[in-house]
Amino acid sequence: MASGAGRVSLHPVFGHADLQASLSRALASGSLPSSLLIHGPRGVGKQRLALWLGQLLLCPESGPTGPCGDCKACRMATNLEHPDLHWYFPLAKPKGVRPGKLAEALEEARYDTLVERREHPLRPASAATEPTGLYLAVAQTLRSHAQRRPAVGLRQVFVIGDAETLVPQESSQEAANALLKLLEEPPASTLLILTSSEPGRLLPTIRSRTMPLHLPPLSSESVEQFLVEVGEVSRNDARRASHLGRGSIGRALGFLPIEGEPGPLETLRTQAFELLTAASDADAGAVYRKSLELGTTRSRGLMPLFELLEDALRDLSVTGAVASGGLINSDRKDLLKRIREGWDIHPVTVARAFRHLEEAKELVAGNVNPQLIVAGLLTGIREELIGNP
Ligand SMILES: [Zn+2]
Repeated sequence: MASGAGRVSLHPVFGHADLQASLSRALASGSLPSSLLIHGPRGVGKQRLALWLGQLLLCPESGPTGPCGDCKACRMATNLEHPDLHWYFPLAKPKGVRPGKLAEALEEARYDTLVERREHPLRPASAATEPTGLYLAVAQTLRSHAQRRPAVGLRQVFVIGDAETLVPQESSQEAANALLKLLEEPPASTLLILTSSEPGRLLPTIRSRTMPLHLPPLSSESVEQFLVEVGEVSRNDARRASHLGRGSIGRALGFLPIEGEPGPLETLRTQAFELLTAASDADAGAVYRKSLELGTTRSRGLMPLFELLEDALRDLSVTGAVASGGLINSDRKDLLKRIREGWDIHPVTVARAFRHLEEAKELVAGNVNPQLIVAGLLTGIREELIGNP
C-alpha cells in the first residue's frame, strides 16, 4: 500500500463523528473532565481519537465543531510534533541498560517509535516477539513532565495507550501508584487520556478516577471504505481485510501485506490455524511440539493470537451450517470442513472449547510461561473436540 510514500501526518479520525461532536461541545461548555479512559476493541481508533482530543484542546480556534485543522497547533498535533501533546505507549525494555538510565533509554525508544509512526502512520505494530510494557520509569517520566508548564500553549495533554500494561509486571504497583498520584491531583492545565482494550485489567483505583468513553467497533463497510480511500488499498484486499478486521481499522491493517510480506496479524492467523490443526491431530504429541515452537518470552503477544484462535473456533462451530461467506476465515473453509467432518465434531463441543480459551487468557494476564499456557490450552481444546483417541 502507498501510505508510506510522502504522507507526513496522521490519518483523520474515522467513524466516530458523533463522539467527536459531543467532546467538542463538552470542551466548549467547560465540562470536559481532566482524566478520561477511552476503551473499546483493539485497533478501533482509541489512541487516534485521544490524539485528536489533544488537538482539540491545543487548537486556539477550537469550537463546538472541533479543532480548526488549519492552525500551527493543529498541524503540529497531526504531525505528532506538538511539544504539549505527549503520547506514551508500551515499549520493549531496552537491553543492557543500567537501572538508573532506564527512563532515559525508554524516552529515546519512544522518540524513535514516534518518528517511525510519523513516517508510516498506517503501518501496524509488528506482532510483539518480546514483552512490552509501560514501566515504572515511564510513569515517573510522565509525572515529572506533567509538573512542568506547557511549552507553547495553555494546556498539555498526555495520551497513555494500552494503559492496562502498567499492571502485570515487576514494580507494577509502584508504576500504577505514580500514575494514580497524577490522576488524583492533575495540574490545572493538564488532561490525561488513557486508552485500553482490556479495561478490566486496569486497577479499580485508576478506573474510578477516569471518565469512561466507549469506542464501539465500526461496520465492516466503513472499515473497507477507510482502507480504500485513506489507505489506498485495492478493493479486493480491503474487502478481505475488513472482513477479518471485525469492525476495527487497526486490526484490518494488520492483515494487509507490508512490502510483499504478510502483515503481523496475517502471520498470527496462520499460527492460530496451526494451533487448531495441532489440537485436532490424532497424534497427541503435536500439541507439545507446537507449544515448544512458541518460545518462552512472548506471553503478551499471545492475546492477539488467542483472539484469532477464537475466530477459528467460531468458524469451526458453524462450518457446514452457513455458506462459506459467513465464515470469518472463509479462505480456510476446506481445512475447517476436514477437521469438523474428520472427527464428527458437534457445535456444542466447540462451545465447550471456548472455556479453555478464556482460562488461557487469564493466565496470559498473570504472566505464566507461554509454552505451558499453550500446551494446557491445546490439550483442553483437543479433549473437547476429539476426546483422547
Ligand atoms: Zn487549529
